[in-house]
Amino acid sequence: MSEDKPHQNLAVIGHVDHGKSTLVGRLLYETENVPEHVIEQHKEEAEEKGKGGFEFAYVMDNLAEERERGVTIDIAHQEFDTDEYYFTIVDCPGHRDFVKNMITGASQADNAVLVVAADDGVQPQTQEHVFLARTLGIDEMIIAVNKMDLVDYEEGRYEQTKDEVEDLLNQVRFDTDSVKYIPVSAFEGDNVASESENTPWYDGEILLEALNNLPEPSPPTDADLRLPIQDVYTISGIGTVPVGRVETGVLNTGDNVSFQPSDVSGEVKTIEMHHEEVPKAEPGDNVGFNVRGIGKDDIRRGDVCGPADDPPSVAETFQAQVVVMQHPSVITAGYTPVFHAHTAQVACTIESIDKKIDPASGETAEEDPDFIQSGDAAVVTVRPQKPLSIEPSSEIPELGSFAIRDMGQTIAAGKVLSVNE
Ligand code: GDP
Repeated sequence: MSEDKPHQNLAVIGHVDHGKSTLVGRLLYETENVPEHVIEQHKEEAEEKGKGGFEFAYVMDNLAEERERGVTIDIAHQEFDTDEYYFTIVDCPGHRDFVKNMITGASQADNAVLVVAADDGVQPQTQEHVFLARTLGIDEMIIAVNKMDLVDYEEGRYEQTKDEVEDLLNQVRFDTDSVKYIPVSAFEGDNVASESENTPWYDGEILLEALNNLPEPSPPTDADLRLPIQDVYTISGIGTVPVGRVETGVLNTGDNVSFQPSDVSGEVKTIEMHHEEVPKAEPGDNVGFNVRGIGKDDIRRGDVCGPADDPPSVAETFQAQVVVMQHPSVITAGYTPVFHAHTAQVACTIESIDKKIDPASGETAEEDPDFIQSGDAAVVTVRPQKPLSIEPSSEIPELGSFAIRDMGQTIAAGKVLSVNE
């Protein structure tokens, strides 16, 4: 698989059981990106049993098993390529904490495929994911109207599902100009990698074409360096080695960098990527690097590395737009759940609920509400209980979104509007 092609981070979203995993499996299979060991294992077993058989179903079983084993891994990346792009599925579909990963994942989604089953239509998680996609700034969406085989490939059922999704997108004011709808069967492979004979009434793009024709995301190399730290190691002969992924900007050897909120700085001596020394690292690169004079206890996971002369901001308080997804009761001022932003996890107090927003129009629905609950969108003022480096989403989107977790689940998501340092 060529790594030279431009990268796309793709989110596959949609209601449970509508076929996200199956569609990803189908995409990996059709683009010949199913891991070699899965194919080898298949060949052996098929030979033993003396049957050729249904390869795709087998591949799906194996991918499902891999997924089961991978549940403890924060993000299990799956990858495939088309003629134009190298795609990383930002979240492993079916992962139990999809929403948190969608926000704090090592890589944020550029675009999304929304899977909606033709036999079931728009469901609560379809709504929730579309709302999130809009809140978090996903620009392009491809709608896969899936399970067409279950509705006998009827055009009427496709149109009906399409209309439901269109209503939903209009409700949340998603810019629908470039949205594409495609009737597919992930299981049978219709209109995924080749045109299906079962949908003669459809003459639009098939899924791989639509993925190929997505606009190229502009790599945020012009922005200031932002590199959230995932871990800090001590390596003999080198010293302290923070590791993380460059979100924006460029890290060069010789640069003076600052770590916030730990508030230490120094000069970058060496940068290493894939066990090789490199002179610089760009957005998307996972690197380990070494900074003159910085000890292991000076910095920690959750710090953000940026230029020393324009360091990442540390929020005394910040204002944010949040969407409450699932909270058993109500959220009032004073509530202090854990916020997950990039690699940081910090308890933060919601100091005030400034206004409730109408999710459909984005307009103020109520000033100073007493509480918010599931389904509400609101602007809130937040005070981190420990120093937290976070940025307005309009300036650095990669460091401007967060998930709010409590009781073992993601209860809300949001983006930062402004930061008071
Ligand atoms: P997810 O929860 O959205 O990831 O859904 P899955 O991919 O796990 O699919 C849920 C169920 O629907 C599984 O039993 C799949 O085999 C089935 N399924 C997925 N896509 C299709 C399809 O296109 N046609 C049919 N008939 N079944 C499908």
